[in-house]
Amino acid sequence: MTTDGPTSGFPSAARTTDSEFDTVVIGGGITGMCVSWFLAQEGAAVVCVDDGGNAGSGANAGSLHVQMQSRVLRLFPQRMPDYEKTVAIYPRAVDFWQRLAAELGEDIDLRIGGGLMIAQSDAEVRLLQRKCAAETRNGVDSAFIGASELLSIAPYLHSGVRGAVYCAAEGQLNPLLANAVIRRRLRRSGAQLRERETVLRIDRDARAYRVILAGGEIRAGRVVIAAGAGSGPIAATLGLRLPTRAEPLHMNVTEATTPFLDGLLQHAAQPITVKQLHSGQVLVGGGWPARASGAAPVPEILRASLTGNLRLAQALVPRLAGLQVLRCWAGVNPTIDLLSVLGEVTSLPGVFIAVPGDAGYTLGPYCARLLVDSMYGRRPDFPLENFSPMRFGDRP
Ligand SMILES: Cc1cc2nc3c(=O)[nH]c(=O)nc-3n(C[C@H](O)[C@H](O)[C@H](O)COP(=O)(O)OP(=O)(O)OC[C@H]3O[C@@H](n4cnc5c(N)ncnc54)[C@H](O)[C@@H]3O)c2cc1C
Repeated sequence: MTTDGPTSGFPSAARTTDSEFDTVVIGGGITGMCVSWFLAQEGAAVVCVDDGGNAGSGANAGSLHVQMQSRVLRLFPQRMPDYEKTVAIYPRAVDFWQRLAAELGEDIDLRIGGGLMIAQSDAEVRLLQRKCAAETRNGVDSAFIGASELLSIAPYLHSGVRGAVYCAAEGQLNPLLANAVIRRRLRRSGAQLRERETVLRIDRDARAYRVILAGGEIRAGRVVIAAGAGSGPIAATLGLRLPTRAEPLHMNVTEATTPFLDGLLQHAAQPITVKQLHSGQVLVGGGWPARASGAAPVPEILRASLTGNLRLAQALVPRLAGLQVLRCWAGVNPTIDLLSVLGEVTSLPGVFIAVPGDAGYTLGPYCARLLVDSMYGRRPDFPLENFSPMRFGDRP
């Protein structure tokens, strides 16, 4: 990989035509929209290009996660040491969402109702106690509670529960509302949003990066790659290794019922999340797979995921058995090595990566803030050393 890239770029707000900008942001999910909005607030001439794919930002469950996810404990035990070290980013990210919601001044159904991760066996109790200790060591406020206290605060649970980790900082919001409000803010800030345009590759000449679209090109001094699972292939066109993957996932929502659930429920060893929306509907998910269907943008629902996910939800919260499922859907979760990738590519000055780690909707706006602060020479509110884009090596 060569190290010479365009160093000057276009000066701030120096756009002269519709194909020259100070910064191109690739990807208009929650991360790319926030990066574009924050850059425009700095006075930069920004264009955000999005292909309108079926991305996580439009399909996610809106849980604001803080405690360490059980799917991480189950599926990636080898990544735990690095994940633990950076887990304090999650309460900061939820705090940032709360401040953002206040600044937006429009309803996005944000509620911090706390979260429970349930154990149903002795082994799960031990796992949760270890997890809780690791969280406390690493700056996340959580507490283990026994079965009788758990059933007194969550009487809707199956009586066989043995205990839980409670984390008061967890919450939820409505991503469809949040996306719409942030998209309006982005447009009002002066940033341009080009939807349904696909970035094919990035080239460069002595003066600027050339972002090549299906029908044209945009030149800019800075490029931010915030394209979720699409980030890896785009980075590869610059010779940069960024191992993003697309993970198709399944979600369900029931008819409305009387309010009974304030917070977020998860299980220590099973793929399940349950929460209740303002409307009274219950959202059931937890990472059950859908199937990518060739070139079709929407993943296919798997019957086994539908029945398995709902069966598990009913076993944990028996009253769900009386509710009809109204709708299920699938979307693409972008994954990487669990940790966010944030910062400038040192070998390609002017190229920045903004890919949030696990639970990326929780992290998206805060990651955008951290990146934009670092781009303007301000000390980010959270250390970025563990999130370097260079950690994967330099071969695509
Ligand atoms: C079913 C489901 C439930 C989830 N639930 C939660 C949850 O409860 N809480 C949570 O925190 N996270 C959740 N997630 C994860 C979360 O949705 C993602 O991590 C998050 O949306 C990532 O945001 P992003 O903006 O970084 O990427 P994305 O949302 O993937 O956005 C990237 C954008 O870039 C576009 N793009 C890609 N390639 C190109 C290209 N070549 N040219 C132009 N545009 C391109 C894509 O179409 C997309 O619009 C869930 C995900 C799924 C699928």
